[in-house]
Amino acid sequence: MKIVVLKFGGTSVGSIDKIKNVANIIHYYLKKKYKVIVVSSAMSGVTNDLVNKSRKISNNFCDSEYDILVSSGEQVACSLIAGRLLHKGLKSRTWLGWQIPIITHGPHKQSRIIQINKKKIMDYLKEGGIPIITGFQGVNKDSRVTTLGRGGSDASAIMLAKFFNAEKCVIYTDVQGVYTTDPNKLSNAKKIKEISYEEMLEMASLGAKVMQPISIQDARLNKVDIEVKSSFVRKTGTLITKRANIINNKIITGISSTQNDSKVSLIGVKDKPGVAASIFRPLSKNLINVDMVVQNISPNGRETDLTFTIKSDDLNKTKKIIKENKSINFRKLIFKKGVSKISIIGVGMITTPGVTFRMFQALAENRINIQVISTSEIKISVLIDKRNVKKALTALHKEFKLDY
Ligand code: ADP
Ligand code: ASP
Ligand code: MG
Repeated sequence: MKIVVLKFGGTSVGSIDKIKNVANIIHYYLKKKYKVIVVSSAMSGVTNDLVNKSRKISNNFCDSEYDILVSSGEQVACSLIAGRLLHKGLKSRTWLGWQIPIITHGPHKQSRIIQINKKKIMDYLKEGGIPIITGFQGVNKDSRVTTLGRGGSDASAIMLAKFFNAEKCVIYTDVQGVYTTDPNKLSNAKKIKEISYEEMLEMASLGAKVMQPISIQDARLNKVDIEVKSSFVRKTGTLITKRANIINNKIITGISSTQNDSKVSLIGVKDKPGVAASIFRPLSKNLINVDMVVQNISPNGRETDLTFTIKSDDLNKTKKIIKENKSINFRKLIFKKGVSKISIIGVGMITTPGVTFRMFQALAENRINIQVISTSEIKISVLIDKRNVKKALTALHKEFKLDY
């Protein structure tokens, strides 16, 4: 059986006309003799709206109820797609995560798919049906509905492709593929033909919203190739696959940037073992994600300065936790909102010397001050003032010859 998994993101199902268009895309694959499994996200804006409602009800909204609430948007979109296919005379129905079931483990709001029961969907495909499956949701061993983290329909599609051994997994979205940088931020951005899982994972984790980072981990572990393309224009998209399949002569494959970051500096912290752990332990307990961390060399061996970044949404909570932390001493606490992390990503930097220098020089020529630096084997990240993001993207895009 030749199976294709088609995933439609929020903007692709964002209106009645767009849903009619989705039905036409599905029809196209049927005509090509594919058995089609469809995964849909909620109509654009719906999940955000539900999250906001939960916040208005309580600033401590229960996690399991949150999952029930925010997963409901997918049900609406799926039934509209199935309804349109039925209208066209095709056999289709909606399947909610628990009806299959799609089994997850891990905490609410960030569960992972571990098993998908194939039987009912296989039977349905054999009968000529088109299953429209709610993305983003599953069910755990206690029969509670779970969700897979924001953007989690990507993971639903990838795991369905794995369990059903699909020939193709196509992620339909509102841009034509994965670009060298967000095409909505830089008009010069170019579509990437092929990108490795490792690079895509870095790009996504460092801010490229086009794919959910965890879904790329799932794809890499399960060797699922992904095609990302537009649901609005018929053009070849981007293939996400293993490194060995790719020929790329560029040193840098892409550039990502983050929004809404804040910087926290503790000045004059005691320089002794265990201090960093005392600072970060309560943050971690409160699920505050600490990103870049730098500690200055202590000039006198007694005191040091420690800087780290967090999401601005967590800033007030972080301030409170640090001020109430009796196990640490410092002279001064500085918070700065409005910083952004810019990262260049590419496996080419492993074998090419001088990439760091070129990045720093390009930023210096544009009078962009670097506040924090962090690196890994295939990425270099710098923290800069948010005002300079566009300027930095433009400069780096040009420096690493991504403009053409
Ligand atoms: P969907 O609703 O289809 O899941 P998302 O909004 O999650 O779509 O992801 C698509 C968006 O990702 C694009 O509109 C684009 O602004 C953003 N994006 C960020 N970085 C990139 C990139 N490098 N390439 C393509 N899109 C990107
Ligand atoms: N609707 C969910 C969200 O907005 C899942 C998804 O879009 O993939 O996060
Ligand atoms: Mg998405």
